[in-house]
Amino acid sequence: MAQALSRNIVVVGGGPAGVFAAIEAKRTDPTAEVLLLSDEACEPYEKPPLSKAVLTGKALPEHALIAGPGGAAKHDVVLERTALVTTIDRASRTVVTVGGRHYPYDTLVLATGSLVRELPQLPLGMPRVHYLRTEADARALASALRGCRRLVVVGGGLIGLEAAASASELGIATTVLEVAPRILARVCDQETGALIAACHRRHGVDIRTGTVIADVEPAGDSIILSTASGETFAADVIVVGTGVKPNDALAASAGLATDNGIIVDEHCRTVDAAIFAAGDAVRFPAPHGLVRLENWRHALDQGAVAGRNAAGASEPYRTVPSFWSEQYDLYIQGVGWPPQRPAQHVRRPLPGNSVLAFDVAEGMLAYAMGINAQRELAAARRLIERRIKVEAAALADPARPLASLLKASV
Ligand SMILES: Cc1cc2nc3c(=O)[nH]c(=O)nc-3n(C[C@H](O)[C@H](O)[C@H](O)COP(=O)(O)OP(=O)(O)OC[C@H]3O[C@@H](n4cnc5c(N)ncnc54)[C@H](O)[C@@H]3O)c2cc1C
Repeated sequence: MAQALSRNIVVVGGGPAGVFAAIEAKRTDPTAEVLLLSDEACEPYEKPPLSKAVLTGKALPEHALIAGPGGAAKHDVVLERTALVTTIDRASRTVVTVGGRHYPYDTLVLATGSLVRELPQLPLGMPRVHYLRTEADARALASALRGCRRLVVVGGGLIGLEAAASASELGIATTVLEVAPRILARVCDQETGALIAACHRRHGVDIRTGTVIADVEPAGDSIILSTASGETFAADVIVVGTGVKPNDALAASAGLATDNGIIVDEHCRTVDAAIFAAGDAVRFPAPHGLVRLENWRHALDQGAVAGRNAAGASEPYRTVPSFWSEQYDLYIQGVGWPPQRPAQHVRRPLPGNSVLAFDVAEGMLAYAMGINAQRELAAARRLIERRIKVEAAALADPARPLASLLKASV
């Protein structure tokens, strides 16, 4: 009897979505040939330490491999490094890399991630200006920080603030320029944002909100930034943390549907039944329409589902999103979908620098945000996942452990 040919599964992108797609594809169909193509020169590494321990010199990117010790090979996944995919030929089911190599696929997973949003006044490649996305970026910035006395961070989002906290730990005079009226407006409520800003100020970081950069002037060993209100800031090094955009050009050039991300269905499938996509690069169906998320756990979880489906499974991707950030001794977390409609906002008073805040909609917990409240956030995730009815008064009551609300509903 003729032996069935094994399935060729190709994954493009060596971030968490791509690595977990490849690992789970191989686990689901051990007979499949699984190939992971990454344009980077190294074994895939975790990005969260890049703005934290890597900048302060406590860790190197290779200390935290996404696939664990032994890398992709340990999972029987073939990793091709420096393999930038330039073309997807959907008719022949082949991808082509920049060196002209052709790789046939039966199913393909695109996990091309995000690209930094470039500020025209501070373009990529400008001397003394750093963007932070890859391990190469982190190594370059860590090295620049060694001789830096004055750092300006443009952007008061999570990455910018983590870089500021790391620089302040290194004793560098650090200023954060944020265009919005407050930092972390996309992530937390005003009160929590103010608490985080106060923590930065206690560590000597100068946070300026409502600040528009009007002019950028290289001046010998530094750069002078002028603001619309007439202030000037001299910097030896500038970090730009003004967000990311989906890296969906490869998919678009292959004729796949894209619109601020690669459009996929709940099975992570694109408009081409043989092509799946996952992670930062995609927009996928959520309870309130198509969304794009930019966080580690989502990329990893969605990549795993895309990989299993590329190997023959038919699993829907449903998620309760979450993120975390570490700044000084603050472990900041969010879980759930920030409510689209007016919701009841509740805070639970907690001692010290701990914070717990909730948004309740239609009698259920929609979103929880906390600082140094890991146990409560884990319980909040379960309350949201199980769509458990909760009273705002119980959430606000520090005497009621959140886990007891789970039990109360069983
Ligand atoms: C400095 C930093 C710190 C972060 N910290 C946190 C945190 O604390 N908590 C949190 O929840 N999230 C954090 N994030 C966000 C999180 O890392 C991302 O959401 C996650 O990495 C997205 O995973 P991904 O696999 O979709 O894409 P990516 O991680 O961007 O990986 C995409 C990969 O594909 C490669 N690629 C792209 N195009 C091609 C191509 N054509 N051919 C071959 N390869 C290609 C890219 O080079 C890259 O290696 C952080 C991000 C950064 C940059």
